[in-house]
Amino acid sequence: MRKPLIAGNWKMNKTVGEAVDFVENLRVEAASVDNAEILVCPPYTAIYQVARTLMGSNIGVSAQDVYWKESGAYTSQVSPGMLLDAGCTYTLVGHSETRGRFGKLDPEMTPEVLKFFGETDESVNLKIKAALAAGLKVIMCCGEMLDERKAGKTDDVIRVQVEKGLKDLTADQAAGMVIAYEPVWAIGTGEVCDTPEAQRVCGMIRGVVRSMFGDDAAERIRIQYGGSVKPDNAADLLSQPDIDGALVGGASLKVADFMGIIRSA
Ligand code: PEP
Repeated sequence: MRKPLIAGNWKMNKTVGEAVDFVENLRVEAASVDNAEILVCPPYTAIYQVARTLMGSNIGVSAQDVYWKESGAYTSQVSPGMLLDAGCTYTLVGHSETRGRFGKLDPEMTPEVLKFFGETDESVNLKIKAALAAGLKVIMCCGEMLDERKAGKTDDVIRVQVEKGLKDLTADQAAGMVIAYEPVWAIGTGEVCDTPEAQRVCGMIRGVVRSMFGDDAAERIRIQYGGSVKPDNAADLLSQPDIDGALVGGASLKVADFMGIIRSA
């Protein structure tokens, strides 16, 4: 039985003070939850204080990204060891916003600007391997853009992201991974992927894992859905056989909304 994982990705939101206030409330509200694993993903600046505030609670802390080197001249980057040291047990890797797949949602994201955000399936794979080797757990995000969906390429895009992202992992490492299926057109848009289609793609992802790593890894790996998950649509999505949790952006910024989603699990 896979325990659902509900993770709140705060993106570039909350000062240290706001983050600490939030998790002080959340830990009280969530104290009796034992049917779901709960994670918050604060910005780097708040990780240490959030982790200290959550010590001894049932809520874990994840980074939003990681670099694959342990130390050195990599200005602006943060290593797996630094994240562990600050109190993280997880990291996100390959979120569409770090892959530079904003699509047309942000008018400032011209091709010239996008290339500074872009990462490749190869860099996602390097980050996953380094994070796992250091002892972090990893949520790898994947998802198609609207034009790819309209062109009927959804399954091909996702298959390539999963195959390249998980390349060279052992079956045991793959089994411990979390994959978040996040259609890019559903992130922050209020447009949720309908439940049968979210289930279909998550089932397809499990099939890719099965073909790469075998039955045991496919049954153990957790696959989340992400993209405009809210308290009123979470129960339907989370009741699907291949959806093992949610990666939540906007609705994870208010304790009441995030708790509504956690309770749906
Ligand atoms: C996300 O950023 O991972 C996400 C799913 O955002 P939202 O819930 O706001 O669509």
